[in-house]
Amino acid sequence: MIFDFKKPRVAVLGGGACGMTAAWELAAAGCEVTVLEREPRLGGLCATHERDGYRFDLGGHRFISRSGELVDRVRGLLGEELLSRTRRSVILHGDRRYRYPLDAADLARNLASVEAVRAVASYARARLGQRVAPGADASFEDWVVARFGSHLYDLFFGPYTEKLWGLPPSQLSADWASERISLLDLGDALLRLLRVRRGGRPRSYARGYFYPRLGIGQIFEAMGEEIRRLGATVTLGATVTGLDRDRRGQVRAVRWRDEGGRERGLDCDFVISTVSLPLLARWLAPGDGEVERHAEALRYRAVRFLNLMLDRPAVSENTWMYVSEPRYLATRIQEPRHRSPEMAPPGKTSLMLEIPCDVDDAVWRAADASLLARCTDDLGRLGFPGIAADTRGCFSTFVAEGYPIYTLGYGAHQLALFAHVERAGNLASCGRQGTFRYIFMDIAMEMGLHAARQVLAGALRPRDYAGFRSDRQLIESQSVTA
Ligand SMILES: Cc1cc2nc3c(=O)[nH]c(=O)nc-3n(C[C@H](O)[C@H](O)[C@H](O)COP(=O)(O)OP(=O)(O)OC[C@H]3O[C@@H](n4cnc5c(N)ncnc54)[C@H](O)[C@@H]3O)c2cc1C
Repeated sequence: MIFDFKKPRVAVLGGGACGMTAAWELAAAGCEVTVLEREPRLGGLCATHERDGYRFDLGGHRFISRSGELVDRVRGLLGEELLSRTRRSVILHGDRRYRYPLDAADLARNLASVEAVRAVASYARARLGQRVAPGADASFEDWVVARFGSHLYDLFFGPYTEKLWGLPPSQLSADWASERISLLDLGDALLRLLRVRRGGRPRSYARGYFYPRLGIGQIFEAMGEEIRRLGATVTLGATVTGLDRDRRGQVRAVRWRDEGGRERGLDCDFVISTVSLPLLARWLAPGDGEVERHAEALRYRAVRFLNLMLDRPAVSENTWMYVSEPRYLATRIQEPRHRSPEMAPPGKTSLMLEIPCDVDDAVWRAADASLLARCTDDLGRLGFPGIAADTRGCFSTFVAEGYPIYTLGYGAHQLALFAHVERAGNLASCGRQGTFRYIFMDIAMEMGLHAARQVLAGALRPRDYAGFRSDRQLIESQSVTA
């Protein structure tokens, strides 16, 4: 292969957190970079939608990172536009509200004593069982029950998890629980409160975080401007449809379709792809039955966001409210102006409800009006009356690939598809969709930087991304936060 290593032509597929950060690094180093993004805006899952002066992210996003370099770069990019915020969140459960991160005194006030006794009894049984015959922790359910007992599992973890993923937790891999262990503070705090667990520091979420004045998407809009200023090309409405490879298997060109439906081609020396791993593998091996089998096994959970523009100054004091019970449709309720006052016009507020679903199921297809009626009814029962009367407008945003579903045995399928990517030699599959990993934006951005630096060093190593930063340390306890 003959090309000028000083200026390789790099195609970046997807303009989300990972792709944009990769393009930023490459553009700054003088590479010939082209970002192809299917949507009409940048940011991917970190995009912000604006309507009538109200701004909504795709789910509540906050920016924290363990990487001082990354935080400094984002600070440098946004300057005064990057706000330092403090989160205030609650879990709505039954007719109670539990502060989140959990607070022992708050729990003591809220938890009925009979529930506490049951929780301790089932916890003790679980721990004893673990000592006598330790389980293998295959599923999410095994993992949680073994650590917290069946009562807490039935009360909170089981229903929330099933609602979020649309599958019984017995069919989900324990990886999700162990990677996101900080979500399990309820048990930790409860056990401390009941003096079953002592010592060490309680696990807890970081309260401080960074947030741009105009929504999380502002980071990537600003990055887009900077990348263009550095001479790179960012094309929106560009849907990648396939890859052309040479006899050795290297990718020589990316095929894509523009907004007008015209088929186009982009010659390249390297490809950093952030599209979903199953989609990329199908491009690499079209019609291959084995690849199809692995790709079929890796599914994503979709999310529909119902965005309510309200004619009132506030709904609650909380940034996030978690709703675990299956009788309510949403898993989380967000009030965006608590992240930045500019997420709603002066004197007004808004709500965003996160509703997990599957593409084309009843929730995905429901008309806004019927979903609004159902959700305002739910909100009334959750203790927020009068929302329907104050709603001045409502619209939905959708993400088809919200959460990679870690079903039992997913890892073997993921690695089999990675092996296909590796064979190309000049291609890396990165980011949340590209690795089929439940990562946050900071890790997606770090992956982008890593891939860009590999290109600059002359060789992509696709294997790096399957386990990139999977050290299972809690991001919340070690992050540079606001
Ligand atoms: C509800 C929710 C809440 C979250 N909250 C947080 C949070 O608070 N903090 C945090 O750090 N992280 C959070 N995350 C995770 C964060 O959003 C992701 O980790 C991050 O956005 C992933 O970036 P990415 O670039 O890897 O992927 P994506 O953002 O998915 O980017 C992939 C891009 O590829 C594009 N694309 C796909 N197919 C094609 C194609 N064929 N042609 C061209 N373009 C294509 C997509 O349009 C997209 O823009 C949250 C995620 C969700 C779903």
